[in-house]
Amino acid sequence: MRGQRGYRVTLIPGDGIGPEVVEAATAVVAAAGVGIAWDRQMAGAAAVETGGNPIPDELIHSIRRNRVALKGPLATRVGRTGFRSVNVALRKTFDLYANLRPIRNLPGIESAFQGVNLVVVRENTEDLYSGIEHQIAPGVVESVKVITAKASRRIAKFAFEYAVGHKRRKVTAIHKANIMKLSDGLFLSCAQQIARLYPKIEYQEMIVDNACMQLVLRPRQFDVLLLENLYGDIVSDLCAGLVGGLGVVPGANLGSRYAIFEAVHGTAPDIAGKNLANPTAAILSTVLMLRHLGENAAATRIQTAVEEVMEEGTCLTRDLGGRSSTTQFTEAIIAKLSI
Ligand code: NAD
Repeated sequence: MRGQRGYRVTLIPGDGIGPEVVEAATAVVAAAGVGIAWDRQMAGAAAVETGGNPIPDELIHSIRRNRVALKGPLATRVGRTGFRSVNVALRKTFDLYANLRPIRNLPGIESAFQGVNLVVVRENTEDLYSGIEHQIAPGVVESVKVITAKASRRIAKFAFEYAVGHKRRKVTAIHKANIMKLSDGLFLSCAQQIARLYPKIEYQEMIVDNACMQLVLRPRQFDVLLLENLYGDIVSDLCAGLVGGLGVVPGANLGSRYAIFEAVHGTAPDIAGKNLANPTAAILSTVLMLRHLGENAAATRIQTAVEEVMEEGTCLTRDLGGRSSTTQFTEAIIAKLSI
């Protein structure tokens, strides 16, 4: 949100590699000359340690006030123990119904495919992430998949509006309505209703298993992908793998009033605290954030600086086949911005 003296944005450093990549991203934004007062807030395990609550009231108030946040990844325990996912809770609290993940090859980055340029639009508030699970008898558990017409139409509209606004030609709705006839059937019929309102955008449907195969065979056939929450989660990581991995894919969680920007990747505990993480995804998430704030010139400068460093290939992090640290890579980008 813009105040008299620049922007005020909530900053959640997160767990694992979160603080390292988020610090890199804020340094790059400062070097691009955008004045942002970062309102630092804790969440997840760090917040539990200090105040016992993974989503402290101060964090909620901060996002309500600022309306925009930059977030590092947060750890969520697997299985029955520990608190429920803070990511899911934040998305629900602020009704961040659209998760947007642009997937594009970056110059100089080796990957199985070139020319990939697609956008994953994932519904962010329902599906199997409803958290409604119960044991109905010993050894028998039910997990409830919630799909509503309202949320399905809303995300489909978002995908088509995005396609129109970003000069995209096609939306592919991905589903498993052959098996989940009611839930995915509803999602699909809502997508079809909305598609009829956008006759200039091609509309296609694909069953999720076939879509995964098509993505790893001929990814360039895809443009905007429209998915429910769980398929969107899985297919996002698959798509990241098409263009160099989780280290290079940014993301945004968007609602009608609030926005939280974050990389697709998690806390990467295997490399946390070692100055090895690739901060590109976090930096490109701030590019999305700057465009959201209307700072298009700074966003383009940062994007160009990242691409130049990648193309030169002399200062890359380990996941991209280089030997540079997080800080060396960040400094190389900042050096480009100061030219
Ligand atoms: P992960 O994304 O943390 O890691 C998967 C692999 O990718 C690891 O080998 C890791 O080293 C590598 N990797 C990820 N980001 C990288 C980067 N920036 N640079 C270099 N390599 C990178 O996935 P995971 O191991 O399945 O999850 C770990 C934790 O993160 C879990 O607790 C999970 O719940 C959480 N998570 C959080 C978010 C989020 O906050 N939005 C998203 C995904 C996972």
